[in-house]
Amino acid sequence: MLTFKRAFSSGRPLLKNYGFIGLGRMGLNMAQNLQAKLDASDKLYLYDVNEAAMDLVEGPNVVKAKNVGEVGSECENVITMLPEGKHVRAVYDELSQAVKTAGKNDGSKLFIDSSTIDVQTSLNTARKLREENVGMFIDAPVSGGVVGAKNATLCFMIGSNDLSRVKPILEHMGAKLVSCGEPGAGISAKLANNYLLALSNIATAESFQLARKLGLDLNVYSQIVNTSSGRCWSSEVNTPAPGTNPNAPSARDYEGGFGVALMNKDLKLAQDAAKLSNLNLLLADRASEIYDQLEADPNCKPKDMSVVYQWMDK
Ligand code: NAD
Repeated sequence: MLTFKRAFSSGRPLLKNYGFIGLGRMGLNMAQNLQAKLDASDKLYLYDVNEAAMDLVEGPNVVKAKNVGEVGSECENVITMLPEGKHVRAVYDELSQAVKTAGKNDGSKLFIDSSTIDVQTSLNTARKLREENVGMFIDAPVSGGVVGAKNATLCFMIGSNDLSRVKPILEHMGAKLVSCGEPGAGISAKLANNYLLALSNIATAESFQLARKLGLDLNVYSQIVNTSSGRCWSSEVNTPAPGTNPNAPSARDYEGGFGVALMNKDLKLAQDAAKLSNLNLLLADRASEIYDQLEADPNCKPKDMSVVYQWMDK
């Protein structure tokens, strides 16, 4: 059954409906970019439990859905950007139910989940939607943060070998689409990457602390490390020592950036994924203790994760 052709035999355009669920820091920007680039004839259904968020995406083709179910029954392509696995499970149960109740479970719908969640939830959701003929579920988490979401420069890590259906949608919101392999491969890539980030953030902060204690000028040290073998994203872009990088969160008292709680969440997800794969991550437990302590500290919790540099001074 071909559901993606753009015209009936009469030549009349076939309207295509898109849905976006989860309009938070990331999703709102992504939905705004999608809205701006859709064909005028395509509708964009929005849903968030926070109703006010739906008012922030404007356009003649925008529909504020009454609930998740309406998005499921009305839209051929649905994108979700939710906080955690439990939200994804709840939303997809509701979507599936609505599609089945509307008798539209012919397997033609496309669901793209860009949330950072556990691999099992992602795989189980894909399997359930496939078995119930509700549609195809593809994991496509992102890197690039809120700035990338705003500028449509996100990198999508996609759990599919075939990008033909997702590309025309995701390229409205991102600059790089990477096919990572089978279902679950996108979320696996995201968790493996963020495990490295969790460690390199702490290691970079310690390295700058060491340089400081050894009496080095940290601006000089920053130049050295960023042209030497220690260079990484945390040293170059997210430089933790205040005064060494005017564009890093450390230059603005660690405001904005990638929050401590999000980093801690992703680290725990990576640890769980490793356990399920019988892999002992040697550095994870200590890193996890550090992020737990940062999260428990009200001065650090709302800040960018590079605040760990300042916390080390205590
Ligand atoms: P957020 O908390 O700002 O937004 C989540 C949104 O989902 C909120 O608006 C919330 O109201 C909505 N929501 C929750 N439950 C819902 C439900 N049942 N139905 C409808 N809406 C519901 O989170 P965020 O920062 O936008 O992150 C979203 C996901 O992207 C997370 O998994 C996060 O780990 C990942 N991520 C975030 C960043 C970042 O820098 N913020 C970067 C990469 C990936």
